[in-house]
Parts: sequence; C-alpha cells; structure tokens
Amino acid sequence: MKTEDIVIVGGGPAGAYLGYCLAKKGIYATIFDDSHPREKPCGGGVSHLALKKFPIIKKTPGMKGIGKKMRIISHSGKETKIGSGYMIGISRLRLDKFILDAAVSAGTHLIEKRVLDVNNKNGVWHVKTKNKVFKTKLLIGADGVNSIVRKKVLGSHKKENLTLTYGYFAKGLEKEVTLMKFLKDKMGYIWIFPRGDHTSIGICAELKDGKGLKELLDEFIKEYYPKIKILSTYSALVPTITDTNFFKIPCTGENWVLIGDAAGHVDPISSEGISYAFWSGELASKSIIKNNHREFDSMWRSEYGENLTKAIKLKSLMYNSHFIDLSITIASRSKTFSKLFFDITVSEQEYRTLTRRILKDLPRIIKEFIF
Ligand SMILES: Cc1cc2nc3c(=O)[nH]c(=O)nc-3n(C[C@H](O)[C@H](O)[C@H](O)COP(=O)(O)OP(=O)(O)OC[C@H]3O[C@@H](n4cnc5c(N)ncnc54)[C@H](O)[C@@H]3O)c2cc1C
Repeated sequence: MKTEDIVIVGGGPAGAYLGYCLAKKGIYATIFDDSHPREKPCGGGVSHLALKKFPIIKKTPGMKGIGKKMRIISHSGKETKIGSGYMIGISRLRLDKFILDAAVSAGTHLIEKRVLDVNNKNGVWHVKTKNKVFKTKLLIGADGVNSIVRKKVLGSHKKENLTLTYGYFAKGLEKEVTLMKFLKDKMGYIWIFPRGDHTSIGICAELKDGKGLKELLDEFIKEYYPKIKILSTYSALVPTITDTNFFKIPCTGENWVLIGDAAGHVDPISSEGISYAFWSGELASKSIIKNNHREFDSMWRSEYGENLTKAIKLKSLMYNSHFIDLSITIASRSKTFSKLFFDITVSEQEYRTLTRRILKDLPRIIKEFIF
C-alpha cells in the first residue's frame, strides 16, 4: 500500500486547479482521474468576471476569436442582446486538459485510474483503484456531481438539488453569438455556446421537470437553426441547490474536503459551475497551505456563500415568465438594466451603483415606452 499526503479524487477544473495552486507553493498532491482527454458534457460558458479572476483560463489553447455577445430570448420570443465580454464558450476538452497539464507540469502527481471506493480506517483514507489501494491523510472530493467521496462523507446530492441537461455538440453555429432562451413553465433554458471549431447547444431544467427536454430542444433547433450538423449527444446532471440550509453544512471534516460540483458549489439559477470549481479549488489550496484545511469552510462562505444563497432566494423570480418578458423589454432599452438583470456575476457594490444609475435612467426609459 502506498501512502500519499494529499489525494484529490477528480481532475476536472476544481481538482486540477487545486493541484496546480498547491504545487505552485511546493505541495505536491496526487490526482486520480482516468477520463482525460474528453469533452465533458457542458456549455463551456465562462463569464468575463471568472476570466478576470482566473486569468489562467484565458491561456486555454483555441480561445482566440470566440464571440462575446449574448442573445437572450424569453419563452414568448421577446429578445435582447447584451454587451460584449459577458460570457464566452470554451471546449472542456481543451480547458480541462490545459489546467490538468499545468498542474502536472508544476509537480502534481497524476494517476490515470478511476477510484472505485474510499474508506476511512482509523483516521487514514484507503483509496481503492482496480489494482491497488493507496492510503492518504487528507482526501479531497473533486469528483463532480456523482462524487463517491461526497457519498461517503455526507451522502449523495438529493434529487431536488439536481438539474437535468440534454444537448448536442454540433457544427454550423460557430458564427452565432452565445444564446440563452428561457423555457415555458419550467425553471430552465436552452443555450448555445459557440466554441471556435464547434458549438455546444443544450437545454436544462430541474430534474423533476426533466421530461420532454430533448423534444423541446429539437423543436427549437428545427425552428431557429434547421441546418446544423449534430456531431454527438450528451445528457448529464448538475447540482443546483434549492434549499439555503444546504450551505450551512460544512464541506470539510477531520480529514476530508469537498470542492466544485461535489460540494454543490454551482450557481443555483444559471448552473454556472466552472468559476466556482476554480474558486473552491483556489480557496481549498489556501486553507491547506495554512495547514488548516477546515478553514476552507469559512473562506468559501465569506467569498461566495452569499452569492449562492441569494441565488436560491431569487430563482423563482428570475424564472417567472412575466418578469423575464418585462426585464427583456426594459433591458433592450437600457444597457444598465441589462447588466443588472442578466449579469448574475455583478458584485454587491456594482449592484448598488447600477441600481442608482437605473433610478436616474428610469424617466428616460418610461418616456421611451410611452412615446
Ligand atoms: C450539460 C452541462 C452544461 C453546463 N454548462 C455550464 C456552463 O456553460 N458554464 C459553467 O460555468 N458551468 C456549466 N456546467 C457546470 C460545470 O460543468 C460544472 O460545474 C464543472 O465542471 C464542475 O467542475 P468540477 O471539477 O467540480 O467537476 P467535473 O468537471 O465534473 O470534474 C470531475 C472530474 O472527476 C472525475 N471523476 C469522477 N469520479 C471519479 C472517480 N471515481 N475516480 C477518478 N476520477 C473521477 C471525472 O472524470 C472528472 O474529470 C454545465 C454542466 C452540464 C452537465
């Protein structure tokens, strides 16, 4: 049996970025992941704020020249375009491989094996692969929505906290702008993320409303883009938490930490999880470097915990069809309003500034509506 100091199960953005940040400080963890290179089911949409916070993402090969505007359509067909720099699409094959390669180049150890089981025996984790068992003092669950580490330490994500997705990797939409079309009577949307040489087009809704998603997406394609060429199909789950109490439960224990999807750190409205994967990886690294992994819990709560709980509270409003129609109509007449409503990544301070600007702008908007 081989003993590792830190084992990270999963080399997606959360696990790979954690490994990278640790290695940069001379701490060399071991990542287990047998999946690369692979195109993970994903839109690959990354907000400009995430790019600003994690500039390493911009170095992903093949990112140049990808469109930056975003078209937003309500279920009834009202639409607006929001400004440049909001959201871009990235191939997860490229992004994930790039971050994992960066972690390995910095000194992280990669074992290309699937972890079959993890067991805590007298404070030491036994990490089982097909042919070997490894021991570790600290176990990190970065193994995504179906995390086996999460299953062991807290229990799997509950059904009510899952969103179902269905989609295609396709060709023929590469010159389009990023698109989001809200669904009727479901908390979900259709997306288009052009990614340079191909596009991810898909649909999502809460798991309980997941029936019929394929049909809705196919109808949309038939109506808007009948000429696209489908390369492959995907369907997968994303954790989207519906109860604020979920975030009161610690993501760390005596000798374990959960990050990224395994921790449920995904925007509950938009299912944006790439930025939180990086963010949680970075914060977990800081806590481990301080030799106090349990501090990760207070760190993520203070940095982005409020974003997540606020999103849960706002979700039904944000998917209310009248509200969407009204906000799209107003947003098409006011850039400030458009940012306030559709840029879910604006900070508290920006939010206040935007609201003040909107109040100033309101007479002009009302005038335009009436005359
Ligand atoms: C269809 C779809 C569309 C999405 N669109 C967007 C989007 O546009 N923008 C956005 O920000 N987010 C999006 N998300 C969410 C985003 O994909 C995730 O939040 C993000 O990938 C989380 O990163 P992670 O590293 O925590 O997990 P993952 O990316 O899932 O990585 C987990 C890794 O762990 C590995 N693994 C799992 N089990 C084991 C095991 N037992 N042993 C070894 N390795 C294991 C897997 O192979 C994988 O490489 C989408 C999700 C889906 C399903």
